[in-house]
Amino acid sequence: MPFPIRSHSALVGVVLATASLSGAQTSPRVYTPGQLTPTQQLARDVFKELIEINTSVTTGNVTAGAVAMEKRFRAAGFPDSDIFIGGPRADKYNLVVRYHGKNPGGRKPVLLLAHIDVVEALKADWSPEFDPFKFTEKDGYYYARGIADDKAMASIFVANLLRMKQEGYVPDRDIIVALTADEESGAFNGVDWLVQNHKDLIDAGIGLNEGGGGTLRDGKPLFNTIQLAQKITTNYTLQVTNRGGHSSVPRKDNAITSLADALSKVGRYEFPVQLSDVTREFFSKTAPSETPEMGRAMKALVANPKDKAAAAVVAGDEKYSSMLRTTCVATMLSGGHATNALPQLAEANINCRIYPTDSPEYVRSTLAAVIKDTTVKVLIKSQRPPSPPAKLSPEIMQPVGRVTKELFGDIPVIPTMSTGANDSRFLLAIGIQSYGVSGLFSDPKTDARAHGRDERIRMQSYYDGQEFLYRLTKLLATNPAAVP
Ligand SMILES: [Zn+2]
Repeated sequence: MPFPIRSHSALVGVVLATASLSGAQTSPRVYTPGQLTPTQQLARDVFKELIEINTSVTTGNVTAGAVAMEKRFRAAGFPDSDIFIGGPRADKYNLVVRYHGKNPGGRKPVLLLAHIDVVEALKADWSPEFDPFKFTEKDGYYYARGIADDKAMASIFVANLLRMKQEGYVPDRDIIVALTADEESGAFNGVDWLVQNHKDLIDAGIGLNEGGGGTLRDGKPLFNTIQLAQKITTNYTLQVTNRGGHSSVPRKDNAITSLADALSKVGRYEFPVQLSDVTREFFSKTAPSETPEMGRAMKALVANPKDKAAAAVVAGDEKYSSMLRTTCVATMLSGGHATNALPQLAEANINCRIYPTDSPEYVRSTLAAVIKDTTVKVLIKSQRPPSPPAKLSPEIMQPVGRVTKELFGDIPVIPTMSTGANDSRFLLAIGIQSYGVSGLFSDPKTDARAHGRDERIRMQSYYDGQEFLYRLTKLLATNPAAVP
């Protein structure tokens, strides 16, 4: 399988020759500032249109975004029978479009999933030169709400499918694009709704979703990531009730004091360190790009998960710490009913991010054992169904590795477990292998602004990501035997 491997040193020469305001250029044959190819112009047009439709969870309308994309597919000649638009509420529609393959081996489709709802944004909260719902280009970046999360991927999937249609590409298996509602926080999650009501439309063998991306350091690609697993969110209520009374005659038993004691015990407690196939890979492959001390600790921990000194070093960085264990943290507190009365009720919310192999009940009983006070009830308040990790298989790792090399040089592809959650959990729960992979690179020091102020994406990264997802989709949708 010959394909060009661009060495890093070869890239540096190109970088210097074409350096621009946005920093290093890694793949000038894909993107040249100021000279968009017709395919890139199409992606930009789709991106701008999606961005300027406010699809935020409460003040926006997701259906308007879905309808705008539906029009583009119809105009490109996709028949009615291959387009579905619908949802549980008039402003929460999802769009699902199918692109037919020859399907000789009967492999289930490739699903390209992106949510088109965005987090709320107020113009007053952003820098004066930006409006969160205006597509703005400045110094090599695009700015707007949803520009990184998740309308970059949504617009790329739309543009890439339109490009394939234009080129007359016929895949071996079907390709499905699903643009969905309420990933962020709304009550009408589009993937959940599709799974419940129209599973046949999105049923697939493999899926690509948000959750992965590449990391830049000093403008250069350092590694690419693929998200395979995610922790499970569960909320617990700590509850103490008491017969109460007049505060002028206090007693030793007091709901607020007991709850406070319980909370400090939970705050000090650490769940045991665990490693899974995914996090073992993650720490092994991340070690070389870390500081020598952190790198050594990661390797030592992978060799021996019981190495307490190594675990302490790794846990010293909070983003790694939460990948080592189940975590529980107090997030809300209430109690008492009058300034001069003994409290009859005190409650706290404990938000836990549970390791995929732990169960919510195990975590509940562990918290109860840590608190060691039978007057404090530990109750499961809300729990999401657990989802298994996606398979770390060559079917995905081989093509992701290959396209990463083609576009970004000889850098590692690192499997990750997300400490948050995304819609892949609904797909994994019904057996669709859903991977977080985008080929969209960013610098975590300067570009991590999703959900925040002045959200942005590097233009270079956007067009590199477009090409990455185009090639990856084709590799996944073409008969493996036919790929050179
Ligand atoms: Zn998102």
